[in-house]
This record gives sequence, C-alpha cells and structure tokens, in this order.
Amino acid sequence: MSKRKAKPKWIKEIAKKRILSLLEQAKETVFSNSDRTKRYVELALALSKKYNVSIGPDWKKHVCKNCHTVLIEGFNLQVRTSKKTGTVIYKCKECGAVKRYPYKGKVFIKEKTLNTTH
Ligand SMILES: [Zn+2]
Repeated sequence: MSKRKAKPKWIKEIAKKRILSLLEQAKETVFSNSDRTKRYVELALALSKKYNVSIGPDWKKHVCKNCHTVLIEGFNLQVRTSKKTGTVIYKCKECGAVKRYPYKGKVFIKEKTLNTTH
C-alpha cells in the first residue's frame, strides 16, 4: 500500500522557502538564544534532507553541521586562510569543527583525499 512518488518540483520550492526562513530565524536568535538557533537549524537540515533540497553554498558555509548552530564571523566563527594548502579554514568556536574551502575563484586543489576518478 505504500506509495512512492518523486517529490514534485513545487513541493521542493515550498520546502526550500521554509528552509531558508528557518535559517533566517536561526540567525536572528544566534546571539540571544542558542537553543532555539539549534532547533531551527535542525529543522532546516531535516527538511533539506527529506526533500532533497540544498540549503545553498552560502548557508552551507555558515551552518555548523556538527553542533547545528549558525556561524557568524567574529562571534562563533573563526576564518583563517592557509597559504600552504590554498584553503580558507572555517572553524566553529562552539564545537571546534573545521571546514576547509579553496580560495574564491580558484580551481585547483589536489589533495590526497580527493578522488580524481568518480
Ligand atoms: Zn559547531
């Protein structure tokens, strides 16, 4: 009896709007109520997963997937660049999770961890 239909596009669009508004709300509460922030982020990520909708590259950089907070530079986010690896390092000060991104506009990066074959 189970119906398995692909999610229609309009549902994804609604989900995306909902996700973005949750993330905006999360951002608004980050300074005053981090418990609420985390709940909003968790909801947004759950929706993103459920509907297979991306939160977008910008939010991805500013959401900690480890402790589910919104990352604000100078508040709970430390941004450093590493010339050695050509990456920007985003560190969440709440839980210490680290993310690395290549410098803007540069296409290079050849790390051991990257597979050239897919
Ligand atoms: Zn974190």
